[in-house]
Amino acid sequence: MTGVGTRSLLELPKAHLHLHLDGSLRRSTVEEIARREGREIPRPTGYGSFAHFTATITAAAACLRDEADVRRAVREIVEDARAAGVVWLELSVWPGLFRGRLGDYRAAVTAVLEAGRDAAGEVGFGLVLAANRGAGVDDALTVATTAAGFAGDGVVGFGLDGDEASAPAAWFGRPFAIAREAGLLSVPHAGEPAGPESVRAALGVLGADRVMHGVRAVEDPALVEERAARRSTSARRATPCSACTTRWGPTRCRRCSTRVSVAPSTPTTHCCSTPTSSTSTRSPAPCSG
Ligand SMILES: [Zn+2]
Repeated sequence: MTGVGTRSLLELPKAHLHLHLDGSLRRSTVEEIARREGREIPRPTGYGSFAHFTATITAAAACLRDEADVRRAVREIVEDARAAGVVWLELSVWPGLFRGRLGDYRAAVTAVLEAGRDAAGEVGFGLVLAANRGAGVDDALTVATTAAGFAGDGVVGFGLDGDEASAPAAWFGRPFAIAREAGLLSVPHAGEPAGPESVRAALGVLGADRVMHGVRAVEDPALVEERAARRSTSARRATPCSACTTRWGPTRCRRCSTRVSVAPSTPTTHCCSTPTSSTSTRSPAPCSG
């Protein structure tokens, strides 16, 4: 919509701080490469659970078979971001995604960084290396050490992806300490499949500078008050969340009408086990990216 006093949202300069490489591939590219390789084309059938969501995007990323495929994917992601008005992009990736295809983690990071920089042009480009909770602490240490080696040379942050419930933040204190000591931002996911206790752990154990999603902090009024107080006393210490306001937002449980913060399009949006329950605020919402 355009008119007096308005302009297209695409024209507004934006910083995109929460973009996953494996969740941002062009569908047309995935299909083209899958056909080339004679592989089955991943077809999303709905994100009814976090596990289903991650399995889908992992299958899409598995279609990238070599360094040329990865470089092409990164270039396209940067091009798409630029077309959306992005002027600063932080792309997040777990280097284990390309295990066996791009060499060791350092080689994989080098390829992604070079592709991003080559495509960036006037767009600022930074890389967030993320550990995968499901890959374990030893792998997270390797990712953190690799990230630290690129501090000041393209890698700007260290993240943590995956299922919060099966691998809590408490396991990953050491990798985050390595990253923070190297000067990297701490940007873990928290408060998505797990509740506000996960956000507390991200702030405390992981020293989060930014919480990816973090939407379920709203379930603990004391946590919200604590964060608000920190923000009001020292803006430098504020810990914002990075969440999509059009995807995440207050909605109503489809069974009991309790207000929950989930992705409205989630087919299993509910917080209770029976239509009459209204006490639980648990949500099974999947990651939106
Ligand atoms: Zn995310």
